[in-house]
Order: sequence, then structure tokens, then C-alpha cells
Amino acid sequence: MTEPAKTEPTRILPATDAAIAEAAGLLRAGQLVAFPTETVYGLGGDATEGRAVAAIFAAKGRPSFNPLISHLPNVARARELALFTPLAEKLAAAFWPGPLTMVLKRRPDCPVSDLACAGLDTIALRVPAHPVARRLLEAVGRPVVAPSANPSGRVSPTSAQHVAEGLTGKLALVLDGGPCAIGLESTVVDATGTRPVLLRPGGVTLEALEDAAGPVITPERDPDAPTSPGQLASHYAPALPVRLNAAGVNPDEALLAFGPPLPGAAVTLNLSEAGNLEEAAANLFAMLRALDQPGLAGIAVMTLPESGLGRAINDRLRRASAPR
Ligand code: AMP
Ligand code: MG
Repeated sequence: MTEPAKTEPTRILPATDAAIAEAAGLLRAGQLVAFPTETVYGLGGDATEGRAVAAIFAAKGRPSFNPLISHLPNVARARELALFTPLAEKLAAAFWPGPLTMVLKRRPDCPVSDLACAGLDTIALRVPAHPVARRLLEAVGRPVVAPSANPSGRVSPTSAQHVAEGLTGKLALVLDGGPCAIGLESTVVDATGTRPVLLRPGGVTLEALEDAAGPVITPERDPDAPTSPGQLASHYAPALPVRLNAAGVNPDEALLAFGPPLPGAAVTLNLSEAGNLEEAAANLFAMLRALDQPGLAGIAVMTLPESGLGRAINDRLRRASAPR
């Protein structure tokens, strides 16, 4: 992927047909484009392209990898990515297009990158209602991840100017579709079972959910229910012990390398031979999974710099290495 220009101020274009077509081309080329949804402006990237997903985390300056929502133009496209339960069908019929995100099991052939799903076997899906978002998603023809288009820790943007103020120089284009109507994020519901589980309150109210799909499980009503979505997205961790900052490697260990690899491992995968952190982020979950093989003593991980995307990569590796 080509790097978005780092010095030029970000272009803002009114969301005409021509601008939407250009934005779709940029997204297909692995670039980042902000666009309006009915909730907030999203920082969009090709969900199937790990490098584009890594660039989103880099642009937002996020210190950790949380799973992102994949956006689709209609329910048929969404069904291609995940296993729809009867509950999911009911919720889709009631609330899509609209500010509802559903967490479902990924299909085995789901092309969305592991980084977008933070290595989990579930995926979060939404069909937004905003006409610009829908036309853009139709034109891209691929799922688009789009967390709120603000630097980490800052308030979600509801206008193209907000986006440019926070992220200028870090994305290729902002499609200006005017102010967002809702300003709240989407409601996130786990729809893998027979009853909806509320993971994050948002634009669709609890009352509306219950009218459509019956009693909802929430943290207040059910203390055993998964709590906040960030915590719930229980972190992917390998079964093998993980050893960080390896200076040497044993013959019965797998090696997760970064830069020139240490010699002598049973099996080696390299996050980035060239020491590129974006490439490393894109490879992280798939490589951890591939190295997590029975019969090995553990996974040794070489040191990664604690800067830029390295912070989020190290955060995830530290969680993976914590005693369980
Ligand atoms: P956003 O920043 O609006 O894209 O927020 C994404 C939200 O969806 C976060 O709260 C995530 O924790 C939640 N989410 C995304 N994917 C999953 C998943 N597979 N399981 C649980 N929660 C998820
Ligand atoms: Mg946000």
C-alpha cells in the first residue's frame, strides 16, 4: 500500500458522485477515507487489507487493538461474512440500515483481516443508513472498517471539519456529507445466541430492541453478562506460553521475529523482515495463531520498539504472555 501523504493538509470534498467514486478507488487502493454515517464520521479502510487496518490504528494513535466494525451496503453482503442466527435476521430486518451493530460468528472463509477482528472468531457488522455511506460502500464492493474518525481519547466527530482538525495529514480524503444526525455511536448487540446481549448502548434504544426481539440481556440486569464491549472482546491469546524480548531462542520454541531473525528456532515467522510496524500489525494475529502448535515448548518473541504502532502490538503481546 502507498503511504497517505503526511505533510499535505487533508482534502475535504463535498460528497458528489465523482467524489464518492474517487473515495471508493482510494479505499480499494488501501488508503484511508473519512465518511459520514448517521452516527458519527468514520475513518474508513479496506477491512480485508491488514495494512489498511493497521494504518487506521496508527492514524488514531490507539495504544491497543480493539476489534473494529465492518460496514456493508446491505444485509446480503453481511451474510457473506458471518453466520446469521434467527435472532440476527430479526434484528437486521428491524434495524438495518441503521445504527445497530451485531456481533456474530465469522464464516470460515470470511475475508476480513484478523487485525480488524483482533484475532477473535467473531465479527461486528453494521449496515449504515446514511446515503453517502451506503453509496460509498456499494462502490467499494468490500467490507470497510470505520471507527470514529478522531484521535484516540478525543470526542467522536460529527462534521467533516471535526475530522480534518483531528486527523489532518493522516488520511487521503474526507467526504463531506454535512453534520451527522445522531452523534451517538451505534448500539452493539451480541446476536450469536437466542437472546440479544447489549454490549454497548447507542443510537438504537433498549426499548426498540425489546420491541423487535424480546428481552435483552444487559450488565445491569444480569451481573454475569459480559460488561463493556472493550473488556468483553476477550483477548485472543495463544495456548502456548509466550516469552517476550527474546535474545536467544531454543530449538523446541517457535520464533515470532521482527527484523533479522534469531537463528535456531523450530519454526519462525517474521512480523516484518524490514522492521515495518504497519506490516507487523497486519501480520500479528495470523502469525500468533499459526505458531500456536501443539508439541512446541512456547513462542519466543523478539523485541519491538515501544513507539507508534509498536505500542499497540506490545500491548497485545504482553496480554498474550501474561500467566493464565
Ligand atoms: P467503533 O470504535 O465504533 O468501531 O467500536 C467498535 C465497538 O464494537 C467496540 O466497542 C468493540 O468492542 C465492539 N466490537 C467489535 N467487534 C467485536 C467483537 N467481535 N466482539 C465484541 N465486541 C466487538
Ligand atoms: Mg470513538
